[in-house]
Amino acid sequence: MTGLVVAMDGPSGSGKSSVSRGVARALGLRYLDTGAMYRAITWWMLRQRVDLSDPEAIASRAPDPVLAIGTDPEAPLVTVDGVDVLAPIRTPEVTAAVSAVSAVPEVRRRLVAEQREIIGVGGIVVEGRDIGAVVAPEAPVKIYLTASAEARAARRTAELTGTTVEAQKAEMARRDTLDSTRRADPLSMAPGAVELDTTALNLEEVVAEVLRMIKEKV
Ligand code: C5P
Repeated sequence: MTGLVVAMDGPSGSGKSSVSRGVARALGLRYLDTGAMYRAITWWMLRQRVDLSDPEAIASRAPDPVLAIGTDPEAPLVTVDGVDVLAPIRTPEVTAAVSAVSAVPEVRRRLVAEQREIIGVGGIVVEGRDIGAVVAPEAPVKIYLTASAEARAARRTAELTGTTVEAQKAEMARRDTLDSTRRADPLSMAPGAVELDTTALNLEEVVAEVLRMIKEKV
């Protein structure tokens, strides 16, 4: 398992984070949340008042923020310029802005390089949108998690306060459309990926199924 890379892709609310962390814990692997990296850069751009409707403005500032991200599934850590941003990167403001930032090729180039460096020799579960297709195309295990729009919105609503399933469904549909229609590395099912529909499954069942898929492959 030491050199293993598990690529976990899928749309928002498909359960990627909980499943990836659960699998990493069960196998004693590291865990990388690449969405948190795009969110951290977005948080910084908002704070710097970069015009997010201007891809060139985003591109020119893309190299500036200093990012640190942890890979211990038990101890999440995300800092930008030394500031702990674990909570602020989950705010609706960042969530609404992140797709505009993640669509900019200069941002992706930078983060993909950092992600590959963190993956290094492996022993890691990596979650995102383009892991199996772009970041780690050689990963021996590639999983594409899906769930119905209703199930995804219901899960997200349960994690947040002050929102409704309908509002979440609309926000997720908007973000999915942006993420899957952008030109640079859109969300897609990578060649060789196995699709796992989690609509009717609970977290333990999905983790068990992924562990079974990993055992079968390695
Ligand atoms: O996974 P999460 O919902 O936190 O991701 C936030 C956003 O980051 C996504 O909506 C997408 O725009 C971007 N993202 C990406 N590529 C990844 C991971 C996330 O473009 N590998």
